Amino acid sequence: MTTTPTPPIELEGHAEHLAGTRTAISASTLSVLAEICRVTTASTNPQEVAELSRDWWPLALHWALQGEVGSLAAVVAHPNSTEEVSRILAVCHEASIPVTAAGGRSGVCGGSIPVHGGVVLDLSAMNSITAVDEISGVVTAQCGVFGPDLEAELRTHHGITVGHHPQSFDLATVGGWVACRGAGQYSTRYGKIEDMVVGLEVVLADGSVINTGGHAAGAVGPDLNHVFVGSEGTLGIITSVMLRTHPVSNYQGRASYSFPTLSDAFEACRLAIRHDATPAVLRLYDPIESARSHGGNGSETIVLVLDEGHPRIVDATLETVRECFTNCGATAMPEDRVAHWLEHRNDTTALQGLTKKGFVIDTMEVTVPWSKLNDVYDAVREASLSTPHAVSASAHLSHSYLDGACLYFSLASRPPRDTPLAEIDSTHRALWDAAQRAALGAGANLSHHHGVGLNRSRYMREALGSAFSSLQNIKDALDPHGIMNPGKLGFDDKFGSSGW
Ligand SMILES: Cc1cc2nc3c(=O)[nH]c(=O)nc-3n(C[C@H](O)[C@H](O)[C@H](O)COP(=O)(O)OP(=O)(O)OC[C@H]3O[C@@H](n4cnc5c(N)ncnc54)[C@H](O)[C@@H]3O)c2cc1C
Repeated sequence: MTTTPTPPIELEGHAEHLAGTRTAISASTLSVLAEICRVTTASTNPQEVAELSRDWWPLALHWALQGEVGSLAAVVAHPNSTEEVSRILAVCHEASIPVTAAGGRSGVCGGSIPVHGGVVLDLSAMNSITAVDEISGVVTAQCGVFGPDLEAELRTHHGITVGHHPQSFDLATVGGWVACRGAGQYSTRYGKIEDMVVGLEVVLADGSVINTGGHAAGAVGPDLNHVFVGSEGTLGIITSVMLRTHPVSNYQGRASYSFPTLSDAFEACRLAIRHDATPAVLRLYDPIESARSHGGNGSETIVLVLDEGHPRIVDATLETVRECFTNCGATAMPEDRVAHWLEHRNDTTALQGLTKKGFVIDTMEVTVPWSKLNDVYDAVREASLSTPHAVSASAHLSHSYLDGACLYFSLASRPPRDTPLAEIDSTHRALWDAAQRAALGAGANLSHHHGVGLNRSRYMREALGSAFSSLQNIKDALDPHGIMNPGKLGFDDKFGSSGW
């Protein structure tokens, strides 16, 4: 089986929605690119190029329903090797042509939209697992390997797992996981992707190829892996990834609890984690989401727990959780709620269905210190519900750390039927401005795992403060012509306005 990208919603048309500046590609440059690898052009096959120029950004689903994408690549290049990526970048660097990487195109922030046209690099053909060191437990995979293909190979032939299971497991590539600094649903046991990366192969803007990391630990200056983890295609193309793995275990523990109040449940999760109980899955649903999806009565907060691994560790973890939860007023509930979650956890049909009904919906995930969870929850709900046409704001806690947790908000507005796209855009923008700024103001960060892309680009400077200029300096040094995914991550854009 080889997985390929999954379109987010049907698209009939290829009009451009964003009014950003576009970069033309000369016939001679096009023929040089075509000598390197297969290419598809917007002038000969705009529909295919339109598919390859979009991702799962929920706002753009409204555009797709009207036959529009954000913008079209002038050329999609389909490289098969690091060498081909390197040659393409050298050409684009020389000619100052924007290059936007596309993996599974499951990003939800518009990160792989080529806002200035130019070249989209379709990395999905670079899909080989190139090495498995079973003794050290390290796998090396090309960037375009999808989750199901990676895990099938590792589990079936080597008895190991990376343990990275994002909701988009079927939709995303290894390179995209790393480029977006993603998190899987089992992250409280296995960590985020940045905890799993051992080393990277990266092609820089000028076409040179570097290798970063490669060892279990080091004191060789700053860790260069982390320059590229989360860089979302703005600093280089990640062509190969070395990841840590764990032995597969078939032993699991599961539990489900109900709390009378949300803040009791927050406190219970904090206590469990602070007592070193790190079950793979620890998911807390506010009363709205508990009632909507987990059998809650409308006032209770439901928490689901699942762990896997060595039986003694799993049993001790579940027992520590039970003790901390009981001390905070929890009632144990039937464990089959976990099975229900497992069955439905990757279902995305509600997103498409609600979009077709005209809802403007999106999700906003942020990292919050334990001490500020209640404040951030209240501030985001209040701010987002005060925006035009807002109808719902709910949250769950999806990933936990010693010092904080991820709050994952689901936000919805319902403008009147047949609202023009420009007003859909402004409804979405108002919702995000209110929610994101309320989160930042109450003590959260900008993003936990979806990344920044185009949607959150406008908040980067305020989120990073004076540190932003250091990031911009790194960008300028690695990509002096600014060709790597321009318009994203808040960087100075040498090609003008992105149109968003
Ligand atoms: C239904 C749904 C659920 C999701 N759930 C989760 C979740 O649980 N956890 C989570 O972390 N994310 C989740 N996401 C978001 C998304 O799946 C992740 O961000 C994923 O890591 C993106 O991978 P991709 O291969 O699809 O990347 P793309 O969407 O193709 O690209 C994303 C960004 O990374 C850049 N990029 C891609 N590949 C490379 C590369 N090789 N080198 C350099 N830059 C590159 C692109 O230019 C773009 O800026 C979800 C998305 C959807 C649609």
